[in-house]
Amino acid sequence: MKIRTQPSAPNTRFRLQDSPGEASPLDQWALDRVDATAAWQRSTGAGGPLVAVLDTGLDCTHPDLRKNLWTNPGEIPGNGRDDDGNGVIDDVHGFNAVAQSGDIHDGGEHGTHVTGIIAADGAVRGLAHGATVMGIKIFDDNGYTDVGAVCRAIDYAQQQGARILNCSWGGAVEFNQELYEKMRDFPGLIVCSAGNGGSNSDEVPHYPSGFDLPNLISVAASSRQDKIGFTSCYGPQSVDLSAPGEQILSTVPGGRHKVKSGTSQAAPQVTATAVLLAALQPEATPAQLKAQILAGVDRLPQLQGKVASGGRLNAAGALADRHHGPHLLHQFYEDIQDERHWAVQMDNGPDDGDPRPGRLDLGDQRVLLSEQGLAISESNMLVWLEAEQQGERLIIDQRGFDRDREGFYSYPLHLEGGPDLPFDPPDAERIPASQWETARAEFEAAWSNP
Ligand code: CA
Repeated sequence: MKIRTQPSAPNTRFRLQDSPGEASPLDQWALDRVDATAAWQRSTGAGGPLVAVLDTGLDCTHPDLRKNLWTNPGEIPGNGRDDDGNGVIDDVHGFNAVAQSGDIHDGGEHGTHVTGIIAADGAVRGLAHGATVMGIKIFDDNGYTDVGAVCRAIDYAQQQGARILNCSWGGAVEFNQELYEKMRDFPGLIVCSAGNGGSNSDEVPHYPSGFDLPNLISVAASSRQDKIGFTSCYGPQSVDLSAPGEQILSTVPGGRHKVKSGTSQAAPQVTATAVLLAALQPEATPAQLKAQILAGVDRLPQLQGKVASGGRLNAAGALADRHHGPHLLHQFYEDIQDERHWAVQMDNGPDDGDPRPGRLDLGDQRVLLSEQGLAISESNMLVWLEAEQQGERLIIDQRGFDRDREGFYSYPLHLEGGPDLPFDPPDAERIPASQWETARAEFEAAWSNP
């Protein structure tokens, strides 16, 4: 079985702009797209689990990478001896699983680029720029590897305490039981690129991304328009989510930077997000990390039916506490409970063809609250709102029963922003909590028996 690195789309050499010190020439658009700044307010990955990048090796001298490289505490560099007795001589920053040595030089650019997306901290910033990474060279300098090298790499990573693996490689190859079991038994999260074949991996399997394992995430590449890239594999069952994979700036050997594209560039952003999350929640299991990353995506219409979550990575969304703490949905309910906002102006949207007025002003209606939703009732209408946070967006699905017309309606309402959600304080009569259940039962009866 031959496994290739995911070939990148044509590279764009990074060019400095004419006016150094003005607008940043380092366009890291993907960081904005996944809400990195908000995520970094909670975690940079510092103190998180060790990450192993299984790749072509990496340039340990790159000024953007040096700071965050794992260093084997038991090994004295360059003395030609296996000081820590693990069977590998001078394995200082990682392991060469091909030559079974400590030499992890990058045989190309791939591993250095992928590593920078995770943990660079210099001219370029990785999404987890506080993380610690080790390089494990699984590809020879001609770009080939085999299952034996990959399994040795996983053994080494596990032995040294790595708990997140980045695998920006794969192939439309036959299922391999040995690799499947090795990954299944790894006590951490494995992030795999979905592949650059441009095909539906539900029909043409791609491995290892296609292994159906609770500790493995498969990542497609999406564009600046949040569309699955032309070359990215996809699959509503076999691919979990997308992450930006177009024109991603990162490190390459020789202290340089380059822009590259592909699922190889998408996967490390999910790896980085897993580190951010695991740094905050050291007790989380790999399956829990995966679930939180998938729950935090920005769900987008163009990704429905393409990836299982229907969304693109959002690092801040992954870190959002879904049960406690100041995330947006929680804050929304808190505000309502405090009567700061407890009626809503809703814009139906100008083009929905709905004969009702474009704005439904609920300012003078009675308001009913519960943990599950917000129901609003008046003489001729009952409304039930189900709110869900997606990143910095609050998606409210409104279902209602219009008694005058004896009809039901349902439409989503999208509210963006943090504390300044567009709710207007009303003069409203509030339904006492003691009547919530009655009112909800009334609504549900009306919904089920028009
Ligand atoms: Ca050693």
